[in-house]
Amino acid sequence: MNQSIVKRLYLMQVGSMPEYEIPVVCYLVQTDDGKNILIDSGLPEIIPEDTSEFVNGQDVIEQLARLGLKPDDIDTVISTHYDGDHAGRHGAFTKAQYIVQRVHHLDAPTNPRYASIRAQWDQPIERIRLVDGDMKLLPGLELIETSGHVPGHQSVLVRLNKTGAILLTIDAVPFGEWFTRDEQSDDDNPDAEEIRASTIKLLDLVEREHFGLVIFGHDAEQWQTLKKAPEFYE
Ligand SMILES: [Zn+2]
Repeated sequence: MNQSIVKRLYLMQVGSMPEYEIPVVCYLVQTDDGKNILIDSGLPEIIPEDTSEFVNGQDVIEQLARLGLKPDDIDTVISTHYDGDHAGRHGAFTKAQYIVQRVHHLDAPTNPRYASIRAQWDQPIERIRLVDGDMKLLPGLELIETSGHVPGHQSVLVRLNKTGAILLTIDAVPFGEWFTRDEQSDDDNPDAEEIRASTIKLLDLVEREHFGLVIFGHDAEQWQTLKKAPEFYE
């Protein structure tokens, strides 16, 4: 049977939090047989008041267009979680199947945190593939469950020919300086222990196998050093 193999990874900045120059990003994975897999979709077109510290840049639709792609060309949307800066354009991809951790999707309807963009992520259930924990989606593409930031958050591992393995931590580790076994001083956070457990899970993974690159979810300094679309990693 013919199986897709991951060929390219594109990085797209679709918005920012200007006060701290924090980038809001999405990723596109392309396979050798022409599949387009989007990872997150960025901010909503109209930013809700409770997240007004964010601003839109060139959005995911425009950036895909620059690569010659229409929203309907996206086969799969890997949804790392339903925060407003990650799932804000999910509704645009009307031909895609969404892949999300089951615990995250089941928690979302009753969690006010995701309410403002519910119309985006609350898609017909037959278009959503609920997954449980770590899994290999296809050769070179793996989901890694990293709860803590929110229940059922997922990070993504992309294996490329030239670059090697790339870990997209997403919000499990938003900043490179937090990628450490040291305890963070954020004791007030009730999720601190789970965040730490997921950080250590990713650190263990990076220690076990050689990684070409670890890309953090919102790291302004690192972002400047990375290749952005239309350039790509292969
Ligand atoms: Zn985020």
